[in-house]
Amino acid sequence: MTSFDDYVKWRRLFHQYPEVSDYEYETTKKIRTILESYDIKILDLPLDTGLVAEVGQGEQFIAVRTDIDALPIIEQVEHDFKSTAEGVMHACGHDIHMASILAVAIKLKAMETQLNGRVRIIFQPAEEIAHGAYSITNTGALEGVKAVLGYHNYPSLAVGEFAIKQGTVTSAVDRFEITIHGKGAHAAKPEQGNDPTIVLGQLITSIQSIVSRNLSAFDQGVVTIGEVSSGNTWNVIADNAYVQGTVRTFDAEVQHLIEQRLQQICDGLAQTFDVEIELTYHKLPGAVVNDEQLTQDAIDVARNVGYNVTIMDKPLTIGEDFSGFSNQYPSVFAFIGSDSMYDLHHPKYDPNEEILRLVPDYFVAFVQKLLNE
Ligand SMILES: [Zn+2]
Ligand SMILES: [Zn+2]
Repeated sequence: MTSFDDYVKWRRLFHQYPEVSDYEYETTKKIRTILESYDIKILDLPLDTGLVAEVGQGEQFIAVRTDIDALPIIEQVEHDFKSTAEGVMHACGHDIHMASILAVAIKLKAMETQLNGRVRIIFQPAEEIAHGAYSITNTGALEGVKAVLGYHNYPSLAVGEFAIKQGTVTSAVDRFEITIHGKGAHAAKPEQGNDPTIVLGQLITSIQSIVSRNLSAFDQGVVTIGEVSSGNTWNVIADNAYVQGTVRTFDAEVQHLIEQRLQQICDGLAQTFDVEIELTYHKLPGAVVNDEQLTQDAIDVARNVGYNVTIMDKPLTIGEDFSGFSNQYPSVFAFIGSDSMYDLHHPKYDPNEEILRLVPDYFVAFVQKLLNE
């Protein structure tokens, strides 16, 4: 059998050898080796990185998901298992997630003959760049799944704390880029050019009308412009101007409305000022939406295994590509305390490994409950 010490050992191993999104080759090998040493079946799927393991037997099945990728961040925490990969760090705690979900796989394997169904354990690549969930769902490995269960460690919650809500729990994160193609000229002869900087000014204020004038008071969204650029010097009219920013929403209709309004504003200004405006809208992870019944089940199970459960009053504005599962299958995603002074994605992020004690119990109990319904 395995124990907490093994979970810590695995977590530190993953921590020491982090790999960025889509390059989790050695990480996948390590996971495979550990699973195989416990005789756990790994599905034969066309995945470059990441894998799906399976335990149990029978028709119905549940999925449990962990992510496996790290971030391009230079670690600033001094411990003897510090990252050995230059400029790469498990700063989102996916090392914690992997170790705990490995423990789930092994615990379930040990009770395999008593399981009233199957459990597919997903080790998902490329969460941070928001397409890993789709690389798993595109294999068809989740067709017919009864429920998909997942979690993220949460630094501002103490170990033993568990936070959840039904419905939307994280925001959709989109990025937009706008290029205004004008016509440069001498600053003294504006009539010979087509000044993109003037259009840029109009664009910035027009975009800010979307949330204030197009959204209902009952809907929520954020539109932020994070970067603008135009021109190089004082006495020349620039050729082009560039804007990029982000849209955060909690509802697919609102997301669609904002994207549509951005396009309309660009088209309208292009006509007004006789310039070409090019909008590129990148949809990153969608909003994670928790199933109502599964959320209630998660709360019951979490309390039973000893968590102090808090019901969140609003969703978080972070993105999480578990949405790739929750928008296709009944799913539930929880936030579990990891008690780090520094937040996720911070070079000094340093979660408390004590989180590894209860997480496996939660998922094992949850799976059993769902399979026995
Ligand atoms: Zn992250
Ligand atoms: Zn993460």
